[in-house]
Order: sequence, then C-alpha cells, then structure tokens
Amino acid sequence: MGAPSRQSLAVAVIGAGPAGIVAGRELRREGHKVVVFETGDQIGGTWIYNPDVESDPLGLDPSRKKVHSSLYESLRTNLPRESMGFRDYPFVIREGRDNRRFPGHREVFHYLNDFARDFELRDLVRFKTEVFEVERMKNGRWMVRSRKVGMDGDDDPVIMNEVYDGVVVCKGHYTEPRIAEISGIDTWPGKQIHSHNYRVPEPFRDQVVVLIGSSASSVDISRDISKAAKEVHISSRSAPNGPTTRQPGYDNMWLHSAIESAHEDGTVVFHDGSSVVVDIILHCTGYQYHFPFLKIDDIVTVDDNRVGPLYKHIFPPLLGPGLSFIGIPWKAIPFPMFELQSKWVACVLSGRVALPSQEEMMEDVKSFYRKLEADGCPKRYTHDIWDNKFDYSDWLAAECGYPPVEEWRKQMILATWKNYASRPENYRNEWEDHHLVLQAHKDFQQC
Ligand code: FAD
Repeated sequence: MGAPSRQSLAVAVIGAGPAGIVAGRELRREGHKVVVFETGDQIGGTWIYNPDVESDPLGLDPSRKKVHSSLYESLRTNLPRESMGFRDYPFVIREGRDNRRFPGHREVFHYLNDFARDFELRDLVRFKTEVFEVERMKNGRWMVRSRKVGMDGDDDPVIMNEVYDGVVVCKGHYTEPRIAEISGIDTWPGKQIHSHNYRVPEPFRDQVVVLIGSSASSVDISRDISKAAKEVHISSRSAPNGPTTRQPGYDNMWLHSAIESAHEDGTVVFHDGSSVVVDIILHCTGYQYHFPFLKIDDIVTVDDNRVGPLYKHIFPPLLGPGLSFIGIPWKAIPFPMFELQSKWVACVLSGRVALPSQEEMMEDVKSFYRKLEADGCPKRYTHDIWDNKFDYSDWLAAECGYPPVEEWRKQMILATWKNYASRPENYRNEWEDHHLVLQAHKDFQQC
C-alpha cells in the first residue's frame, strides 16, 4: 500500500483553554483549516481567575449563571513549571513575572497567552461564541451551531449554523460539580458549597467547616480556610482507621473518616464515631464530564463519569475520526498530554496516520473496560491514568512519529510526587531534584 494522501479539513475546536489552543496549533500545523469557538472573551480557560461565584454555591441548579473557572485566589500550580509546560514551548521564567518554580495561577494565564501570541493563534479564535449544538449529518460531516454571547453573558439572537469535517471537543472538565451524598442532609440547617465556588477564606471567618475530600486542591483549600475559620474538619474516605486526629502544625484542623450522617440540630457525625456542630460543609469532591451540546444519539454517553466508548480516551469508534475529545484523562500531566493528543488527532484527520477499524477500536475499548472490571476499578476511575500516564503519552508520541516523553520530565514528576508526600506543606518551596531542573533547561535550549 502507498503512503496515505494528506488531506486538509475544516475543523471546529470547542474551547480556547490550554487544550483548545494547542489543538488549534497542531491542527493548523498539519494543514487543516481551524476555527476555535470560545464562550469567553479571553484565552486561558480554567486559568482565567474569576472572583465571582455562581448563584447556586453547590452548582447543582441547571439554570444558574455559570462561572467557568474553579481557581481560588491563592492557587499555585501543583506541578513544577519545567514539567508542566508544553513540550514545544517551555514554561520558563520571564523577566518581571512570577519566577517561582510552582507559580501562581496568573503566571499560567500569561504563559498560555504568550503561547497564543507567539504562534499567532488568536486569529483562529471566535471569542464570545458558544457552541450549543453539534450534530452529525447524513453525509458524515458535522453541523456546528453556535451563538454570540453578550458581554454580560446574555445571549443575543445571532446564531450561526456551519458545516465542518471534524469537531474536536476541548471544553474542560472542571465546571460541573459532583457532590457527596450525605444521609440526613435535607434537614441539616447549615450552608453547603462546592469547591468550584471557593475563592478566598474570608467568608469562612469564625465558622466551623467540614471539608470533604483529599485531593491536591482540598489540601490547599483546607489550609487556606484554616487561616480564618474557627475549626476545619477534613472528612476523607482515605483517612487512617482510628480516632480523629489533629493535623500537625494546626490547632484548628482535624482529620476524620467519611461522614455518616447530618442532623437537624446542625451536627455532623463521622464513621469514626466523632461528631461536630457545623456551620458549613465544603464539598471538594470533584467534577463530572458534561457535553450538553452533543446530539449524537447516545453513541457516546457519560455513565458514572465514564465517557465512552472512546478509543484511547479520544475517538468514539463509531464517530471517529470526525469527532474527538482532548483532555479527558485525569491525574495526567495535562499540557504535554493535550499537545500529544492534539498531534495525533491532527495527523489522523489528515490521513497521515490511520486509525484501526471500528471493530478493532471497539474491541480495544471493551478489553480495557474488562481489565478495569477485573481489577475492581469503578467506572468513575476509567479516565484516571496516573499509573500509566507515561506509557499513554509515549504511545501517542509513537503514533505520530514524535519522541517519547523526556526522561527528565518523567523523573521530575515522580520526584515531585514523592516530595509532596513527604513535605505536603512545603513541596512548592523546597525540593531536591535540582539536577533534573538543569537537565530540563539544557533540553529547552534545543526548542
Ligand atoms: P479549560 O481550561 O477548562 O478550558 C475550556 C474552555 O472551553 C473554556 O475557556 C470554556 O469557556 C470553553 N468552553 C466550554 N464550553 C464551551 C462551548 N460550548 N462553546 C465554546 N466554548 C466553550 N493543571 C496543571 O497542569 N497544573 C496545575 O497546577 C493544575 N491545577 C489545577 C487546579 C484546579 C483548581 C483545577 C480545576 C485544575 C487544575 N489543573 C492543573 C488542570 C486544568 O484543568 C488544566 O490545566 C487545563 O486548564 C484544562 O484545560 P482545558 O483546555 O481542557 O479546559
């Protein structure tokens, strides 16, 4: 068989966060004609800090006015900048800016905007334009329906219907909250908030707070809140068995097991038998995938936070390569992974790299699901790729003829993880992997 011909397609990208802009870049590099749709008026997605919170602090009311970003004011990255950045565009220190190795969120916003400026990506983006419907047409092409969004978020009547050969979904997955189910919560009189709507500690002043969760952001937020709150009680399914323990270094923070029940008199009871009268429950319990604009007859569904079926977390076997998703895996190294996913999508769309047959892709997905099941892994962890994040990225890289993830980057991620485990309070300020930083910078000189 001869080499496949390279075709240039019209491709719609939904979202101008990190995934959408790197997808835009890679698709254009591969010769496609790209339009990036973005509801907001800036590039950066999650990294555009918004001090406003939603009208429903739990984020459950579908008619609430939505705020996209979940950033809190004090947020610093949880990855060192050298390993966090795109491989083709290192996240290096710029004069006059936040020069910390784990910088604050504004530095990431600036980095993404530098990336967009240096690769002239802004021209691809249609700002203040929300995609509200994506539908496959009989001829296999895609109808993308979008509307202009007014400055205050209200819609005005400008609606566009356009046909594309491909749609790449890059809409982000940290906006639709998941909350913990708590027995008795309906009669419990306190206030509930999801971490999506956490910004600063002040509203928690002098309050007794139960914070549910143990992710990196729950750890940050509990420390942030402890500066103002009267008491912070962390409830975690992974807390060690045994009695409640006070957190070392804090006189107002305790670690409990999971919540058993909440009661009319304001009490919250934990599985370890302890109980506290609580003012606020803060759910740091993660998010759910949500694709309200996809009209694809349930060919792809979200079931217990499994988006599927998706071949390699990207292409629905029955709809690929026309429809693809960037950024579905979590516990990944996001930006470099988005970059590789985008490269693969771009060269599959151009025909330079072939996908397996629909049957083969479906069989691959099924055998992946069977393995998860055999390992006792609940569906909601389908896209948690922590244990094979490097293999996954290396596989993508190999598919598009790109080198595997740099050895220093792999070692740096592991070193950071170990450092976090041993110095949870201070891993952003003290580390031992100086030799890896040097190796990274040596590598960056070749970019
Ligand atoms: P987003 O950044 O969410 O961007 C999606 C974009 O799509 C948005 O601009 C949105 O307006 C737009 N959009 C959505 N729907 C539509 C539509 N229908 N039409 C048009 N536009 C639409 N990652 C790291 O690498 N390091 C970190 O330290 C780190 N910390 C994090 C801390 C928090 C609190 C959170 C929530 C995430 C963190 N992440 C971190 C992960 C982070 O989500 C990714 O870095 C990245 O922002 C995800 O990029 P994305 O482009 O997939 O989505």
